[in-house]
Amino acid sequence: MISVDEALQRVLAAATGRGLLTAEPIDLRGAAGRILRETMTADRDLPPFTRSAMDGYALRAADTAGAAVTLEVIEEIPAGSEPKHTVGPGQASRVMTGAALPAGADAVQMVEQTATLEGARVRILSSVAPGEHVRRAGEDLAKGSLLLAEGTLLGAAQIGLLASAGRARVVVSRRPRVAIIPTGDELVGVEQEPGPSRIRESNGHTLEVLVAMAGGEPRLHGIAPDDLDELIRRIGDALRECDVLLLSGGVSMGDYDLVGRALAALGCRPIFDRVAIQPGKPLFFGRSGARGEILVFGLPGNPVSTIVDFLIFARPALRCLMGSQRWLDRTVAARLLDPIRRKPGRRAYLCAALEEETEDPTVRLIPSTGSADMVALSQANALAIIPEQIGVLEAGVTVRTLPLAGLTLP
Ligand code: AMP
Ligand code: MG
Repeated sequence: MISVDEALQRVLAAATGRGLLTAEPIDLRGAAGRILRETMTADRDLPPFTRSAMDGYALRAADTAGAAVTLEVIEEIPAGSEPKHTVGPGQASRVMTGAALPAGADAVQMVEQTATLEGARVRILSSVAPGEHVRRAGEDLAKGSLLLAEGTLLGAAQIGLLASAGRARVVVSRRPRVAIIPTGDELVGVEQEPGPSRIRESNGHTLEVLVAMAGGEPRLHGIAPDDLDELIRRIGDALRECDVLLLSGGVSMGDYDLVGRALAALGCRPIFDRVAIQPGKPLFFGRSGARGEILVFGLPGNPVSTIVDFLIFARPALRCLMGSQRWLDRTVAARLLDPIRRKPGRRAYLCAALEEETEDPTVRLIPSTGSADMVALSQANALAIIPEQIGVLEAGVTVRTLPLAGLTLP
């Protein structure tokens, strides 16, 4: 059995060795959640011209030094219109937020610090420094500089930035096609009434969401039975049209755990089949396809195990294939509110309630009956990470937690 770190390293090595998925140009609208595959430079200065940051008066700062002063108003410049006059000594132009700064002016006094007078004059009530309330051309970014690096995850801010830089289309990684096959004779579909000793299939649904949220394109296949020939046929079909295969169930030590044998019959090269993780120990990982280009995860059937193994191993692999700069998730250090006693040996990921909106983040364990307890997981907003060798943790110590963003709503 290998450690979590060793297993993750092997998964990432396999994903890196496979090489990136192809890139494709797409519309900026619809690019949220995708990974940028080109380096973007600014096509013009940001901001593109020197402009006012306030509604007020563009003037020469030197005119306002000392006491209040009265200036002649020579022009009104709304946002989007071109200034026509140069502001001379003793003069000002009325400007709106976002309007280009007229020539001659070097500062803006905000309207709240002024009083309009009769005869196109304004009283400036307090002095301004040169450059005040002015946003200089290129002060955010100079034309030609790096706007967004290759490998950036496109979120709302990045999409807005690309729009401001005039990029209606962007080159991003194509989505990995992820086949999902739930296996098990006891499983029935969600719309069916389970007979005695049978349960409803849920991992396929969970994985479909997790894959989509990780930027992949899930393809949920029907439930496969615990029958070797049928498994070989179903897995063989899925392997013909996916980049990553997620199987659930059938990978532990039971008499009907046939997934490993089916994969071997299909020529899949195993990389590991057990990891010192709790939950999620019976995890198969291997490479399939002529060049080993398909990553295969045989996830354990227990629902919490499936999710934990997906989050810890499969999601980083998907990000790696898409060329993301970040493969791993952020963790949050928090003060443990309950003591923990457990058998050491495996790294544990325990259902937890993380309170991180405070100076002193805290974490409380959510009682769970184990790796099948989806009730506990659905109440958790984080997993508390307990290091392999630790069996006893007193309340008050700091532990790392993995926030479950995207798994539960905030
Ligand atoms: P297995 O890994 O096949 O031994 O399954 C371990 C446990 O997970 C068993 O109790 C199964 O009934 C359950 N299980 C397996 N697959 C699923 C699934 N797709 N949805 C819900 N529970 C499952
Ligand atoms: Mg099974």
